[in-house]
Amino acid sequence: MRFGGIRNFLRKHIEYCCMPYAYQGVQISWLGHDSFYVKYLDKRIYFDPYKIKPKDRATHVFISHEHFDHLSIEDLRKICTADTNIVAPESCRNQLSQLKTGLFKLIKAGDEFETQGINVKVVPAYNVNKFREPGMVYHPKTAGGVGYLVEIGGVKIYHAGDTDFIPEMKNLLVDIALIPVSGTFVMTADEAAQAVNEFKPKIAIPMHYGAIVGSSRDVEEFKKKAKVEVVVLEKE
Ligand SMILES: [Zn+2]
Repeated sequence: MRFGGIRNFLRKHIEYCCMPYAYQGVQISWLGHDSFYVKYLDKRIYFDPYKIKPKDRATHVFISHEHFDHLSIEDLRKICTADTNIVAPESCRNQLSQLKTGLFKLIKAGDEFETQGINVKVVPAYNVNKFREPGMVYHPKTAGGVGYLVEIGGVKIYHAGDTDFIPEMKNLLVDIALIPVSGTFVMTADEAAQAVNEFKPKIAIPMHYGAIVGSSRDVEEFKKKAKVEVVVLEKE
């Protein structure tokens, strides 16, 4: 199939959504890879900003782990002010010290807290079967990577981080799941579908494709196998 053919094929099989996507007054923009911008009233939240075209200055930034495509000082400089709340796991401490602005909160899986009316629950994120070398996964549980369950405007948004389908996902109560689908370092499309079929978010939005690994084919497979509503966002 030639390029145009693939494009038409995907158009027919994947419903791309208007941008940004709005759910009960909460606006969600996909900025590529695992980067999202969420806006609700005066709150402007970024997740894992990496090579983004910045929107407004951030009130909050949530970082899942220290890898370059999730913790990007260059990107944080584009969006952070002295008042920005930057939430990240301990593994990000050294790199974040290069950022001379912002209010830092270092967290770990299991933490729950409230920040300016936003309720946050920190969920683990790790690999069970994606190996860097025999016996060594890309994201070991001990590395302390996380996902976030963030409740804003009564909407619970789960950003899964770099993870496989792990038991800790099973009891999550989620409205909107931002879920990796590329395989290699994270869940495959098939595993991502198994995950959402288990914890049943109202909406699943695929991420972790189109930049380093993963393609529209992964999105298509995820959409085919997921038994929840899948919304595919165009990159902003
Ligand atoms: Zn990673």
